[in-house]
Amino acid sequence: MDRNEASARIEELRAILWENSRRYYVDNAPVMSDYEYDRLMHELEALEARWPEFYSPDSPTQKVGSDLETGDAGENAEPLIRKEFVQRAHRYPMLSLGNTYSISEIEEFSARADKSIGEPFSYSCELKFDGTAICLTYRNGRLEYALTRGDGAVGDDVTANALQISNIPSQLHGNYPEEFEIRGEVLMPYEAFDALNRERAAQEDPPFANPRNAASGSLKLLDPSEVARRGLWCTLYHIATPDLGFTTHDEALSAAASWGLPISEHRRICHSISEIEEFISYWDTRRKFLPYATDGCVVKINELSIQRRLGLTAKSPRWAVAYKYKAEEASTKLISIDYQVGRTGAVTPVANLEPVQLSGTVVRRATLVNADQMAMLDIRVGDYVFVEKGGEIIPKITRVDLSKRSAGALPPSFPARCPDCGTPLVREDDGAKWFCPNQDSCPMQTKGRLLHFVSRKAMNVIAGESSIEQLYSLGLVRTPADFYDLTSGQLQTLEGWQEKMAARFLASLGESKSAPFERVLFALGIRRVGEITAKDLAAHFGSIDALRQATEEELKQVPDIGDMTAASVYGWLRDERHIQELERLRAAGLHMSSDNTDAPLSKALEGKTIVISGNFSVSRDEIKRLIELHSGKNSSSVSRNTSFLLAGSKPGPEKIRKCNELGVSIVDEHEFRSMLPQNAASASKHSVPEGQILEEPTLF
Ligand code: NAD
Repeated sequence: MDRNEASARIEELRAILWENSRRYYVDNAPVMSDYEYDRLMHELEALEARWPEFYSPDSPTQKVGSDLETGDAGENAEPLIRKEFVQRAHRYPMLSLGNTYSISEIEEFSARADKSIGEPFSYSCELKFDGTAICLTYRNGRLEYALTRGDGAVGDDVTANALQISNIPSQLHGNYPEEFEIRGEVLMPYEAFDALNRERAAQEDPPFANPRNAASGSLKLLDPSEVARRGLWCTLYHIATPDLGFTTHDEALSAAASWGLPISEHRRICHSISEIEEFISYWDTRRKFLPYATDGCVVKINELSIQRRLGLTAKSPRWAVAYKYKAEEASTKLISIDYQVGRTGAVTPVANLEPVQLSGTVVRRATLVNADQMAMLDIRVGDYVFVEKGGEIIPKITRVDLSKRSAGALPPSFPARCPDCGTPLVREDDGAKWFCPNQDSCPMQTKGRLLHFVSRKAMNVIAGESSIEQLYSLGLVRTPADFYDLTSGQLQTLEGWQEKMAARFLASLGESKSAPFERVLFALGIRRVGEITAKDLAAHFGSIDALRQATEEELKQVPDIGDMTAASVYGWLRDERHIQELERLRAAGLHMSSDNTDAPLSKALEGKTIVISGNFSVSRDEIKRLIELHSGKNSSSVSRNTSFLLAGSKPGPEKIRKCNELGVSIVDEHEFRSMLPQNAASASKHSVPEGQILEEPTLF
């Protein structure tokens, strides 16, 4: 490569890396794999080292990737992201870490340290948590600021949001220093990530690619109560304030744990490269059992005096290095592409692959997301492609092996018409997806809606894809209300159905009639109304009749209901066919309002007026429901009539003050549950007691 070629390549790499850095840190919607990004970064580092005259302080090799808004967020950026956070300067620069995917480079790091230090030292080996970095400042034991990394010098002030993360204490205990900064990572555990993506899929928002992007996007949401709902979690790993009197990093972390801060137990002091390698290889397999994502291990020199001696580069400390695990990927052949029409009419390209083993499962299909993604990958049928399964639930094609492309392979053309009913597809101006607009008679959409209606989170009826296909193709069921007209005699005449099967199916339909209104609302399959939106709408309006009366403006009064969701709900409820369907479902006995959903489980709270405040092990709505199920009454403000304040973590200080003033007693969640009859007090199935996350049995 000559000088001109080097200069051009350096420019090209810088542009690619900055563009992808923005997609990753600001939009939280990367399109390149981390491995590929790191490979290009290493290529740029090598070129800049070989041609020092092209050095630039603005090169991505010299700066940490910035999460600060640039005002040009891409189309996949989350709409709720707040554009203007207050920004604050970091007292100590917040840097990245040098990273490698090779053990031999860890050996080189250790050999360099051995040579330059000239005195005994140890390493702190830790997990590399795959979330988004946060810096917390505590003054007199109280959380004062929470800042994102920003550009390393200045970060966004996300204190209000950090206070919604259940394991970040607002108040420390024990013998903490008067003022200090501690850094760590905000993570989204897999369970919360899956729930969020299900919700986004139901609302046709683009899913987050992985828990890291979801955590980072969530930390910058407009509404702190939405942050609280997202189930974020924090782990801290570095006290940035020098001179607190500690000798080692490990000692500092242990002290921080004693002040009530969340510090990972999964760390180990190592004295040799073989111990470091043992730690790395142990966690290579064990990390798959953790409830949150990790992408490597961090090796830090443990002695703080040596850390100070080694110092920092512009981008990372010299006393630490990250070993990154390569996301598991496999190469296989793309046989064909199917275009699937979902229940809302969205057309998704799906790749049919030659079966290949990946992370313990055989992958045969992978999503190609949408037409833009196909164009970006420049994919052709017959190509060899790489499939990756990181934090994602659905395997994804990350790149094409161009060296194996056969001559003459043509790019696939995205269909212009619905592959099922032939209606010309339309592209909505708010997104990258194509839709079949034939909502009422496109067979794939109809079957998709029926399947959604019977699904576990909706009406929970025992019926799979093949029964729905059979009932649909015989013309017995076209809309959900048709299910409730089916008779045992009719079902028994169907191929493969016996008396028992028909009876089970009908019994399950019968049971579905006791599903609460919010589930019925979700089951209807209204576009953009996922499980949580259905809950919010049901809680706000209380009945389908009230919902039908609501104007678009009134719908938008419900927190988190935006223009598009309001328009979708409003339009759906004004379609004559939907009105008739609702009346048939009502006549079949389905709950069309919240007040007749549940008979009380007990009278344990009869006559009690309860105010709730703070965060609980389950959602606040579930706590409120529990109060009603046990004959109690919810109230939103503390008064002389309040029986007690049910306080979760971080209750509102104003409510506490009022209770003290009026002499109203304050009860915690544990005490509250002990008031309820046994077996009725259990939390919802999807709550994870916080402690469980850290109680993973481990050798280290
Ligand atoms: P990084 O994620 O590679 O490593 C540094 C970060 O690790 C720290 O800032 C900290 O937040 C975190 N960390 C987790 N556990 C830690 C621990 N125990 N101790 C100390 N730190 C810990 O670096 P980065 O600067 O945040 O991101 C750069 C990386 O992001 C790249 O190497 C690349 O993999 C990825 N990236 C990908 C794209 C893409 O398009 N795919 C774009 C930009 C960046």
